[in-house]
Amino acid sequence: MAGRILGRLRARSSPGPLLRYEAQGPVAVVRLRCPEGRCGTEHGYAWIAACAGHGFRCVACGAAFSAWLGEVAALAVEGAAIVRRYRLEARGLGGELAAFAFTDASGARFAPAPGSGVLLVHDARGVLREVVDRAAGTRIHLVARQACFVATAVYGPGAPELAVLRRFRDRRLGRHAWGRLLVRAYYRNGMGLARFLVGRPRCTRLVRQALGLVVAMLRTRERP
Ligand SMILES: [Zn+2]
Repeated sequence: MAGRILGRLRARSSPGPLLRYEAQGPVAVVRLRCPEGRCGTEHGYAWIAACAGHGFRCVACGAAFSAWLGEVAALAVEGAAIVRRYRLEARGLGGELAAFAFTDASGARFAPAPGSGVLLVHDARGVLREVVDRAAGTRIHLVARQACFVATAVYGPGAPELAVLRRFRDRRLGRHAWGRLLVRAYYRNGMGLARFLVGRPRCTRLVRQALGLVVAMLRTRERP
């Protein structure tokens, strides 16, 4: 099974950091993307075929992260339009069954068939950040629950403006293909903007003014 999920395995003969594990079996190279928002560097990391989970250190930024590889046993999807809740049961490379629950608000299509390989990447805090369908090549990026990171950076968590923006995302944007594209672009790039705003009060004020106009307009439209 390991060979099917990992692709072509190759024996490592050259000395490297994983040399001491060679007794456990063949080592494959798996391409992983660093889950740290500002980095995102993709690189091929050595993977011992017998183990489902491994810890890594990003070659570019040095951040610790971990990845888990298995094959889909069952996948249940709830919700429609943009926000989808997934319950994934997968069998790891060692044969163990593991369950993962995650919510994605990016509008991405993620539907790996039973038996196909899935890769789950967790950040240094153990938060699931990316799920990859290895056969289809599709991946979903997961962000924090509140997920409106630019608005959260501008208004602070729990602000009433966030609820207005979230309703707009779920009720209006989710209905249209262009809306889903917009949301997906936002989730891909918004984290960088949110980080940029930290410690830049003048820029934050400008974004707050611009978002304020949007929120005011949405509130007017929400009134019966
Ligand atoms: Zn990195």
